[in-house]
Amino acid sequence: MLKVENLNKHYCSGIIRKHHVNAVKNVSFEIQKGNILGLVGNSGCGKSTVARLIMRLIEPDSGKIFLDGIDLMGLSYQKMKEQLTNIQIIFQHPESSLDPHKKILSSLLEPMEIHGIGSCKEERIAKIEELFDLVGLKNNLFTRFPHQISGGEAQRIIISRAMALNPKVLILDEPTSMLDVSIQAHVMNILKDLQKKRDMTYLFISHDLEVLSWFCDEIHVMNKGEIVERGSKDKIINDPQNPFTKELVDCFCKF
Ligand code: ADP
Ligand code: MG
Repeated sequence: MLKVENLNKHYCSGIIRKHHVNAVKNVSFEIQKGNILGLVGNSGCGKSTVARLIMRLIEPDSGKIFLDGIDLMGLSYQKMKEQLTNIQIIFQHPESSLDPHKKILSSLLEPMEIHGIGSCKEERIAKIEELFDLVGLKNNLFTRFPHQISGGEAQRIIISRAMALNPKVLILDEPTSMLDVSIQAHVMNILKDLQKKRDMTYLFISHDLEVLSWFCDEIHVMNKGEIVERGSKDKIINDPQNPFTKELVDCFCKF
């Protein structure tokens, strides 16, 4: 369903002294329909860059991305926008994903209108209400602004907004790491339920092996821009080979 081949991205920043970072180096992986792939690694190892490259929010230096057989790199901006019904991303900071000047209902309806989901406003609202039900939210949030809701509510709104477009693939970039511990498990359960109910394909990105081991069957370990080890959850946790994976597993096992 989602395949990336030899993705490379380097950043160059700084004004006088240029600073170069090879954020993503030769990253390749494939996720079959209905599967969850976990991508784990320390902060700064290039995980979010991989996510942004797949969404074409940034352009790779080289590499290929295929979504359900479609070569995303070959698409124009307009054609890529059309693909956004098939692939959606959920970021770490739910607040920054919502327009602070728009009421929640408008933020939810707008992408549905753009992508022609539902035949009329009433149908779109009914679909949002159905999704709110699934994620445990009430429609009294519709008339609020983003500053009038909690982080946990915001992330569940973002999940509903993404799901409303019926995507085939969902990229989750540390979706619960900014939430209170009490709400983290709740949001994780919602994501797992939705994945099962809709037979969705997830790329789940996290620095936390514990979260991934609960969520994913297959885990890829990233270090300094490269995938250094890949395998089933059991293999990664019980028989890590790479020294970096061993370190991650040691930290995980201490808890
Ligand atoms: P992660 O999500 O694993 O924490 P990122 O993909 O955000 O890592 O970042 C990978 C590396 O690229 C880091 O060293 C980060 O500082 C750098 N980086 C990310 N975005 C940019 C950018 N726009 N300009 C320059 N460097 C960047
Ligand atoms: Mg990140």
